[in-house]
Amino acid sequence: MNIEEAVHKQRMFFNTGTTLDVEYRINGLKRLYSTIRKYEDEIYEALKLDLNKSDYESYMCEVGLTLNEISYMLKHIHSFTKTHIKKTPLSQFHARTYTISSPYGNTLIISPWNYPFLLSLEPLVDALASGNTAIIKPSEYSYHTSSLIDRIISECFDEEYVMVINGGIEVSKELLKQKFDLIFFTGSTSVGKEIYQSASENLIPVILELGGKSPCIVEDGADIKMAARRIVFGKFLNAGQTCVAPDYILCHKKVHKELIEELIKEIKLQYSDYFNPDYVRIINEKHFNRLLRLIDKSKTVYGGNYDCETLRIEPTLMDNVTFDDLVMKEEIFGPILPVIEYDNYDNLYDILLSKPSPLALYIFSADQKHIDNLTHRLSFGGCSINDTVIHLANSETPFGGVGNSGMGSYHGKAGFDAFSHTKTIVKKYNWIDLPMRYQPYNRHLYNRILRIFLK
Ligand code: NAD
Repeated sequence: MNIEEAVHKQRMFFNTGTTLDVEYRINGLKRLYSTIRKYEDEIYEALKLDLNKSDYESYMCEVGLTLNEISYMLKHIHSFTKTHIKKTPLSQFHARTYTISSPYGNTLIISPWNYPFLLSLEPLVDALASGNTAIIKPSEYSYHTSSLIDRIISECFDEEYVMVINGGIEVSKELLKQKFDLIFFTGSTSVGKEIYQSASENLIPVILELGGKSPCIVEDGADIKMAARRIVFGKFLNAGQTCVAPDYILCHKKVHKELIEELIKEIKLQYSDYFNPDYVRIINEKHFNRLLRLIDKSKTVYGGNYDCETLRIEPTLMDNVTFDDLVMKEEIFGPILPVIEYDNYDNLYDILLSKPSPLALYIFSADQKHIDNLTHRLSFGGCSINDTVIHLANSETPFGGVGNSGMGSYHGKAGFDAFSHTKTIVKKYNWIDLPMRYQPYNRHLYNRILRIFLK
């Protein structure tokens, strides 16, 4: 089936109204849940082949989070889809006002390779809970997982409801020519701009989940040992190929030396041997070579080794880095951690204000005033204080970027809302009809009443 036909088939199906039935959505989500469970071992195998991801990490960061999102939607779907009664202003007397959430219709989900299972299926869960159809275009780089997603989805759903179309940039571009009702894109900022531009041709709403350089601040007074432990976790998870990984550290000069020592200790503890079977590899040679170019040996204080055959790069720590270094010119998206020193709070604030809004901000601090100041005044997607990464793993809260790191958010209720349009509906009763809005205007009689209603 060609792309145009596939989209047409889904449009015809959506127009039947089948997906408006909440029970239909629930059955689909339950089927998806059990099919994922059935294919769990194959999913681990595919992620191992694509990224050398271990079964443990695959469950923790991909399969488990997807199942959790399905469970969350199954638990809340009735309350999300119900009619919400709203207050009616006195000026509209006598009427009943309510809102209903409607699916956009036919949606397109384009996903990246770094968490290929999670980032294809989690948006799908939100799309289906909201009553949409979906075409998923997974990344061509995570070939094994993308093919398996196709098998899982084909077993679970008819093509007219959910379908996977695999392929590279050309396929993606062909899909973007179609008239979808919503596009959900996860990927790089540069491609995000292209998606936005192409969607604007048909005024298609977009959710853009993008990347960027997420700073990690370590202040004087923070628990340095704990900071090092949690930074090493968040940075080297998935070998740094995580959209919310701390990209670089901004460290106060007073704790700089201690932090470097603790980071090295922690890397040794958590990743003594980067050939260990659980250490993730770089997705392909292109990214492997890109990352090696970012390592400046003269600034490397730990790591820097690599293996071309298995595409693994040792957790690498670079010190005394400046914003002029190559490693600070692009999103790193790999296991290289640069440390930059700052002098004082004003200096830190100036640095952060001069950068585009990041997807994540990390603050290790014991100073609540500083924390409040930074979290209120800076623009960023989300934040963990005294930890890294964890703020995204909560279906109760929205996840998304702002500015250069994206627009719109998802997960849980935010995900349901992202894939729904909220309709406001007013039902007017006929037994009374307040006259003051009609011409000819009777200023003498209604001026005062009008000002009581609208003030
Ligand atoms: P990418 O932008 O290169 O590709 C993402 C998807 O877009 C893939 O399916 C790809 O086939 C498609 N694509 C690529 N070029 C295209 C084009 N010109 N036109 C249309 N489609 C195109 O991103 P990637 O390398 O797969 O992923 C890494 C990036 O994604 C990083 O920047 C990372 O920060 C970001 N990311 C963001 C999140 C988030 O939730 N915000 C999550 C994961 C990754």
